[in-house]
Order: sequence, then C-alpha cells, then structure tokens
Amino acid sequence: MAYGFNTRALRVPHDPLTGSVVPPIHQTSTYVQDAVGTLRGGYEYSRVANPTRTALQDQLASLEGAAHAYAFPSGLSATDVLLRAVVRPGGRVLLPDDVYGGTYRLLDKVHAGTGIGYAVVNQRDLDAVAAAVAQAPAGSALWLETPTNPMMRVADIAAIAELAAGHGVAVLVDSTMASPYLQQPLALGATAVLHSSTKYLAGHSDVLGGVVATNDDALAEQLGFLANAVGAAPGPMDAWLISRGVKTLGVRMDRHCANARAVAQMLLDHPRVERVHYLGLPDDPGHELAARQMRNFGGMVSFRPAGGAQAAANVAKSTELFTLAESLGGVESLLCVPAQMTHASAQGTELAPPDDLVRLSVGIEDADDLLADLDRALG
Ligand SMILES: *Cc1c(COP(=O)(O)O)cnc(C)c1O
Repeated sequence: MAYGFNTRALRVPHDPLTGSVVPPIHQTSTYVQDAVGTLRGGYEYSRVANPTRTALQDQLASLEGAAHAYAFPSGLSATDVLLRAVVRPGGRVLLPDDVYGGTYRLLDKVHAGTGIGYAVVNQRDLDAVAAAVAQAPAGSALWLETPTNPMMRVADIAAIAELAAGHGVAVLVDSTMASPYLQQPLALGATAVLHSSTKYLAGHSDVLGGVVATNDDALAEQLGFLANAVGAAPGPMDAWLISRGVKTLGVRMDRHCANARAVAQMLLDHPRVERVHYLGLPDDPGHELAARQMRNFGGMVSFRPAGGAQAAANVAKSTELFTLAESLGGVESLLCVPAQMTHASAQGTELAPPDDLVRLSVGIEDADDLLADLDRALG
C-alpha cells in the first residue's frame, strides 16, 4: 500500500552505520576507494554524488511520484540544466506571458546565444498553445509556470500535455508556487517538474535550492550527466536543510493556504484595494481550473491598491509583519513590488507585471495579526 503524502515526506533513511535517525550531513568532497575504482556505496566525488543529497533526492522523487529527482544549488540552476537537457539548438521554449523574471532572463540573455529561442504564448488559450506547438521546430519545449508569479494565472497541465504529446514537444512545469503538496504535474502528463526549493520546499528562507523530477529515464540520465558536467551540485548542508523543511511541507501549506484565503478576502472587501489576485476567490479567472488541478489555492496573494505605484510603494514600506523582501514560501510573511524587485529583468517587455502590483507571500503567523497589519498599512 502506498503511503500518503505527509508520511512519505517524513520517510528518510536512518544512517546504517550509527542508526542516527536523521541522515547525517556528509560534509566531504571525496570518498576513500578500497582499490583503484572500487567505491564504497558508489560514492566517488561530491560533485557526482553525495549521500545527503541522495537522501534529499529520494525524498523529493517520492513526493512527486517520480522515478528520478535531481537536486540543484538553486531553482535557476535547475532551470538551466533542464533546458540544456531538453531543448536543442534551433528549438524554442514556449513561455507563459508572466514567467518568472529569472527564467526569462536566462532565455533572453544566456541561452539566446546558444541558438535556443523563445516565444511567449498565452497558456490560458488552448488554441494559441495548439498553434504554437504545431509550429514549434524540433527540439522545442513548452515551459509552464502554474500558478504564475506574480499574476496567479493557471495553465491546464493535462490539456496542454495532451496537445504537446502529439507533436513530440516536452512539457516542463515550474511548480514552485504550488509545491508538490498542492499539485502533481507528472501525474497530469508533464515530462518534468521543477521547483525552486528555496521557496515552499525548504520553507524557512534560509537556503537556496532547486529540483527537477521526471519519470523519463533518458531525460533523467541526461540531467544527471549535465549536473555533474556543468558542476551544478548543491552542498550537503543545503541539501540537509531542504530535507528537514520538506518534512513539514504539508502542515505548513495547509496554514499558508488558510491564511492567504483570509488575507485575500479581507483585501477584496477593503475600500482602498482595487484588484485582488487569489485563485481561491470564486470570481478569479483561474479559480475553476485551480480547483480541479490543485489540492488548495496556495499561499500567494497579489493586489493593486487604489492610488497606483505610489500607493503600492507606501504599503510596501508601512507593514510591520510583512517584511519587504524578495522571495516567497517561507514561514514568515514577505511582501514585494514585483515590477521593481523580482521581475525587474522583465521591465519594458510584454512580461512586465503592473507597476502598482503588490505581491504577498502569506506566512504562517496568526491570521488576525496579518489582517490588522495590512489594514494599518493601507491606511
Ligand atoms: C524563485 C523562483 C525561481 C528561481 O529559483 P532560485 O532558487 O531563486 O534560483 C524560479 N521559478 C519561480 C516560480 C520562482 O519563484
């Protein structure tokens, strides 16, 4: 019988040597060989593999229902290796229209020089996706980010995977905002799922990391090869911190979702707020699809205060519990103005978020305190 999500999140191997319940941090770069080429347990050099990282990868693979998972030093490092593994020169990456700024910059400023192109597609429009897929050169990929950051848009993973399958186009899903607890892209037909584990997976704003999981054996082999070849190896301490965070992912996400829902409802009712983006609101354009595709609606809320960019800047400097900082998914509430912060690299492009948008990463504090803090800051 398969264990449930929260049980699997806690299942890490005890140390066979000492019985230590929590796997140790193998803070080593290299491993003794008993004779030339005779390795103990297959470990040779920590760029290739490290037991602390292996334990994390097994834990993450289990949570995604994947045969393979690879851990990376950051979400963007994972994105870079995944794109190298899947997209061929001459191919293009079909991006959503509010893709994470760093993903856009990677394609626009780094991969463009290697012959990998990109195009922006409205992924809420399945006809547009079908047309883009039909015209995509060999070696192309669809890059989904769902929900998106910061506009909270959703793409229909199952429908898009079905469209793409007929054309041999890989479907890569950045599922960072949902975490494996809220959404399982591989079960919906995605080729690979990626997370910035910096966010909900680690969950405590104290470490950077990334992960890619897949059931495609050939892709997994290529990911493992490239991770070693380009040196995209996370350190054991970072792997250990992420593994510890993952154990409480389910309980944290339940609280993030409940608090975000309360915040979204309060903002919706607030006279000094013009627009609220939260998938849990029945009127949100993505609500119905999110209800089908996700377990719950997540911990991110964005909104546009009355008074434009100046009002957004005022809110940003007036909260006490929502700390003005980039990043998301930690236990403490954070706030940012994406146009000038996380998404500055998309400024002046069709991917730029509205300049008066405030993004909240709603933490696990007491909801009443968060509501009062926002109410005070809105004035
Ligand atoms: C943060 C983030 C990334 C990049 O991850 P890093 O760990 O910062 O490199 C990618 N995608 C999304 C949706 C993110 O929020």
